[in-house]
Amino acid sequence: MSDRDGFIWYDGKLVPWREATTHVLTHTLHYGMGVFEGVRAYKTTQGTAIFRLQEHTDRLFNSASIFKMKMPYDKATLMEAQREVVRANKLESCYIRPIVFFGSEAMGIAATTLSVHVAIAAWPWGAYLGEEGMAKGIRVKTSSFTRHHVNINMCRAKSVGSYTNSILAHQEVAHDGYDEALLLDPEGYVAEGAGENLFIVKKGKLYTPDLTSCLEGITRDSIITLAKDMGLELIEKRITRDEVYCCDEAFFTGTAAEVTPIRELDTRTIGIGSRGPITTKLQAAFFEIVAGKNKKYADWLAHV
Ligand code: PMP
Repeated sequence: MSDRDGFIWYDGKLVPWREATTHVLTHTLHYGMGVFEGVRAYKTTQGTAIFRLQEHTDRLFNSASIFKMKMPYDKATLMEAQREVVRANKLESCYIRPIVFFGSEAMGIAATTLSVHVAIAAWPWGAYLGEEGMAKGIRVKTSSFTRHHVNINMCRAKSVGSYTNSILAHQEVAHDGYDEALLLDPEGYVAEGAGENLFIVKKGKLYTPDLTSCLEGITRDSIITLAKDMGLELIEKRITRDEVYCCDEAFFTGTAAEVTPIRELDTRTIGIGSRGPITTKLQAAFFEIVAGKNKKYADWLAHV
């Protein structure tokens, strides 16, 4: 990732990709206290646009506020910086990664006097869970690692440190040949994927776990809005893993994963064992919106 051409926005300036480095004693590297975003820009009928830029930027600021990291830039500056990175790298569609981290002035967990830095990179990134997965569904396994408890980590924040939990879960199931992990909350109810929110379909109704220990996904919110607009009933509630075993359809949502159907959980076939009809409809509608083909959701697109 580090050895390529292009530019990264780093503390207010575009710097050549290979020079966007930081010291090994940077605080975030040692203690995991940093916040970030995952954003996508898509090629639309009217040029490249960033999907839900405002909401991603709002979440980045909320994450920073939860961790008491003082943002050195305002939202308008960081929204323009995200556009600038896409333009500078001449990207038509891409993934954008803003990250906020502490400097290297001091070690130890007293982080109050440290400088706060912001970097924004962007690069092309295709289907996160594979093109085949998008069309046919992926194989998922419940991880033995539990999702964060609300008072062990801050579940509303997209923070650097919280991803060790995701990586442990993914490592475990990938070792057994699965595409992605499903994590249960500390009480044993279904929470989310390692990097995605979960939806299930049962008798034509859509269900998704309540947000207690999940990230408040922006794709999740987009699908909820879309589903309601399509006249589908959406219920947020606690879900058990055997409800998923017996559902008609299941899918993951996320900026990287977009809308990825799930065809199997814990060696149980879900529904028809492939992408189900409601998943197909929502996935197609999602891709129409991000491509600028549905005027109703035009305000979700920030042109670069
Ligand atoms: N949960 C987790 C743990 C994630 O990492 C992500 C990806 N950001 C999501 C859910 C989905 O969030 P979003 O749709 O905003 O990308």
